[in-house]
Amino acid sequence: MKFGGTSMAGTERIRRVAGIVKRQQEAGHEVAVVVSAMAGETDRLVNFCREANALYDRAEYDVVVAAGEQVTSGLLALHLQALGCKARSWLGWQLPVRTDDAHAAARIEDIESQALLASMAAGEIAVIPGFQGLDPDGRVTTLGRGGSDTSAVAVAAAVHADRCDIYTDVDGVYTTDPRIVAKARKLKYVTYEEMLELASVGSKVLQTRSVSLAMKEGVRVQVLSSFIDESAPLADSIPGTMIVSDEELEGTDMERQLITGIAADKNEAKVTLTRVADRPGAVAAIFGPLAEANINVDMIIQNIAKDKGETDVTFTCPQADLARTQALLEERKDAIGYYRMIADSKVAKVSVVGVGMRSHAGVASTMFKALADRGINIQAISTSEIKVSVLIDSDEVELAVRVLHTAYELDAA
Ligand code: ADP
Ligand code: ASP
Ligand code: MG
Repeated sequence: MKFGGTSMAGTERIRRVAGIVKRQQEAGHEVAVVVSAMAGETDRLVNFCREANALYDRAEYDVVVAAGEQVTSGLLALHLQALGCKARSWLGWQLPVRTDDAHAAARIEDIESQALLASMAAGEIAVIPGFQGLDPDGRVTTLGRGGSDTSAVAVAAAVHADRCDIYTDVDGVYTTDPRIVAKARKLKYVTYEEMLELASVGSKVLQTRSVSLAMKEGVRVQVLSSFIDESAPLADSIPGTMIVSDEELEGTDMERQLITGIAADKNEAKVTLTRVADRPGAVAAIFGPLAEANINVDMIIQNIAKDKGETDVTFTCPQADLARTQALLEERKDAIGYYRMIADSKVAKVSVVGVGMRSHAGVASTMFKALADRGINIQAISTSEIKVSVLIDSDEVELAVRVLHTAYELDAA
C-alpha cells in the first residue's frame, strides 16, 4: 500500500491512513506501506536548497529532501501502534534500498527484503519512506519527484506482493486530470504501455519509472482513493483503476478507445540556440554534456540549413534543470559554435495518448485543427507510435486540454 502526500498531510489524515492499513491487515493480508512526505513538504525543502545555491550540489539536496518521508514514516508507525497494531519504520538506508549514484534522480538497483519479510511474517506492519535510497558510497539518494510510486512498486516486487495499491487523492486514472476537466472519465483498466506513455508526458498520478518497473517485474498496480470511510469496500474488490497487460485487457469486454487520455506538463522549458553550424558533431556537442549531467532532453527540433550552413536548434528540458542547462551551454559556447541562446519557461507540453493510433490515421490532424480553431499556437511537435505532443504557451494549457478532451469525444455524459 502506498499513500501520497495529500493522504499524509497532517495528524487527521495519517490517522485515517492507519485505519485503512489496519483494515487491510485484519482482512488477512501481510502489509508493507510506502509513504510520501506531507503535501507541500518536498517543495518547501527543495526551495531551501534553491535559496542556498541555484546550482546546488545534488548529493546535499538529497540529504535535505529525503527528510520529508522520514517524518511521515515514523508518524504512520506511531499511529498504527496507537490503533493496537505492531508496526515499525524502515528507512531507505536501513532496508537498504540500493540505488545508483545519480543524485536527485537515482534508479533503484536492488532492495534487500529478508529482514522485511521476516518482520512482516511476524505480524509487524512495515512502514517504508518512499523516495529515498542509498548509493554505492553509502550516501542518501532520492528517486526524482513523485518517486514514492517507484519505491512502492520496487518494494512490491521485492516482497512478491499480490498487488501494489497506490492510494492517492483521486479514485483512479482518468482520461485526463479530473482537476482540470470536470468531464474526465475514470478508466477501469489501463494498459502498462498506455500508462507509461501518459505518465511520461505529465500525468503525475504515477511516476513514469514506477510504471516501467511494474511492467518489467509484472507487478499488479491499482490506483485508488485514500479518501474513503470505514464502510467503503476493501481494495480487493477493485474500486479503482487497474493497470493491466495488453493480453489481460483483451480478455475483458472493455471496448478499446482510440485515445486513452490527454496529459499536460507545465514543467518544461524551451531552449533555442541560434546559428549552430550545420556539420557532423554540432548537435552531439550540445547534447553530450547535457546527458553527462543527467539532464533529460525531450523535444528536439533542428531545421534544414537554408544558407550559410547554419541552423537553429530548439529543445525542451525540465524547468528544474534550466539553470544548469544554460550554464553548461554558456560554458561551451565557443566549442559548440552558436550565436545566441534563448530560454523560455513559459511553455507547456500537451499530449494525446492511445494505442489506437497505431491503426488509425488522422489523430494528429484532429489535434492540430482543434487547437487552431481556438487560436492556440503550436511551437513544437513530437510523436511516438502511440502519442502526439505539442508545445504551447503555458497560459493556454488548460484550455487546450479541455478542447482536446472534447475533440476526441472523451467527455463524460
Ligand atoms: P500523490 O501525492 O498521492 O502521489 P499526485 O499529486 O502525485 O498524488 O498525483 C495525483 C494527482 O494526479 C491528482 O490529484 C490529479 O490532479 C493528477 N492527475 C493528472 N492526470 C491524471 C489522470 N489522468 N488521472 C488521475 N489523476 C491525474
Ligand atoms: N515527496 C516526493 C515528491 O514530492 C516523492 C513523492 O511524493 O512521491 O516528489
Ligand atoms: Mg505522486
